[in-house]
Amino acid sequence: MKASTNTVVSFEYTLRVDGEVVDQGQLAYLHGQNQIIEGLEEAIEGREAGEAFAVTVGPEKAYGERNPDSVQVVPLSAFPDDAIVAPGEQFYAEDAAGNPMPLTVVGVDGEQVTVDFNHPLAGKTLEFDVKIREVREATPEELAHGHVHDPDSPAH
Ligand SMILES: [Zn+2]
Repeated sequence: MKASTNTVVSFEYTLRVDGEVVDQGQLAYLHGQNQIIEGLEEAIEGREAGEAFAVTVGPEKAYGERNPDSVQVVPLSAFPDDAIVAPGEQFYAEDAAGNPMPLTVVGVDGEQVTVDFNHPLAGKTLEFDVKIREVREATPEELAHGHVHDPDSPAH
């Protein structure tokens, strides 16, 4: 079976940025539902179990370009009292609608903290090595829920 809309695709991957491995693992997702980055989903379209390939995905089909306006200075008092506020630490702020917005601390100067709301992989070209493990039809329940079910876990 070939990967197409509403099939469940399981794959192993290694992700490199600038030649360094930044992530590695395996994933199962519902194809055609924007559950993985666009450039990777396009590369998997039509693939079958056992296929292995490499794909390079530019920022426009991955996490987008970096937005310089997303680097902001906020007061230290905006963080929880027990938080360790240091460069590289990640926190979640909330936008006006209450949605979580991940941020990374880039600098601390006294009571002023410089934070970056850009995704850590924004502006990056991603190099994936992919191996397709399985392609199967999604079950009606998976389609209704909009996500893949693990056969070893109870239904939810
Ligand atoms: Zn479910």
